[in-house]
Amino acid sequence: MTDCIFCKIINGEIPSYTVYEDDVVKAFLDISQGTPGHTLVVPKKHVKDIFAYDEDLAAAVFSRIPKIARAIKQSNPAIKGMNIINNNGEVAYQSVFHSHIHLIPRYTDQDDFK
Ligand code: 5GP
Ligand code: ZN
Repeated sequence: MTDCIFCKIINGEIPSYTVYEDDVVKAFLDISQGTPGHTLVVPKKHVKDIFAYDEDLAAAVFSRIPKIARAIKQSNPAIKGMNIINNNGEVAYQSVFHSHIHLIPRYTDQDDFK
């Protein structure tokens, strides 16, 4: 998709801070950090939202989440937990229409993130 921000990040047209990358997904820091280390995991294939995945793509993308989550957690001993969120549709607060999974590290139950 030529006018998709996340496709441009995947192909390097827009810079990002890469956390993890393989043939299926790219994980990079969210430009607006909910908490420090807030990461987005995106399929390299342009899919709009969860409703557009087939089983193979879902298995490939979601199977990457635990190891990326572990790597983020292991990068900072202050990280005690993590919220994993996937918004689908404007009514569910999706703002970028290239599917992505938010990995939001949690430090204390007082983090400035709800
Ligand atoms: P959504 O609201 O669709 O679930 O989340 C979209 C996320 O993409 C937001 O948290 C927003 O900060 C992030 N975002 C939007 N544009 C960019 C960008 O150009 N670079 C990065 N790294 N993140 C972005
Ligand atoms: Zn895209």
